[in-house]
Amino acid sequence: MLTASAEDRFWTKVNRSGPISLRREAPGRCWVWTASLRADGYGQFRSGGRVGGRNVRAHRVAYELLVSAIPDGLVIDHLCRNRACVNPEHLEPVTHRVNVIRGEGVSAKAARATHCKRGHAFDAENTIIRRSGKRLCKACQRAYTASYNAMLKRQALQPLPPPSGPVPSGKGFVAAGSEQYSKSLYKAT
Ligand SMILES: [Zn+2]
Ligand SMILES: [Zn+2]
Repeated sequence: MLTASAEDRFWTKVNRSGPISLRREAPGRCWVWTASLRADGYGQFRSGGRVGGRNVRAHRVAYELLVSAIPDGLVIDHLCRNRACVNPEHLEPVTHRVNVIRGEGVSAKAARATHCKRGHAFDAENTIIRRSGKRLCKACQRAYTASYNAMLKRQALQPLPPPSGPVPSGKGFVAAGSEQYSKSLYKAT
């Protein structure tokens, strides 16, 4: 389907160190298409070079090069939900109907989001997977913890107002200016 030189050219546009998919059915890293992408997010390859040839979808080319011809009437589903991926292990020929069902559910939409709502990548390093399957962003979790701790600190370290008037002596009181007094400035309110 491709000339040997076109095939070589094809593989120079593939980065096999892509993100690791969190979906069990798509093991290993995505192979990311580094050349032009179509508006719908699929990689695009010009089979005949700069002149001639036709634009073909890169993931279909990869599948046909490494696995087999794609049977008529089947579409290639991205198990990793990364349309720029051409890793044949992440590609599965399915009927159009299966592809639509897999892609449209609310949970499918959440599962294929590649970033949290604040824009951090849901990659292997930054993701906590709950037992329910829900993903949590580590960067956001850290930020929540930091601002919570800062809030606790602000509340705990309110300096007490300096005493006015003579400091009563006796149990429960300390003299202003003493070391004990400075310590008592920073106690929980
Ligand atoms: Zn992939
Ligand atoms: Zn985040």
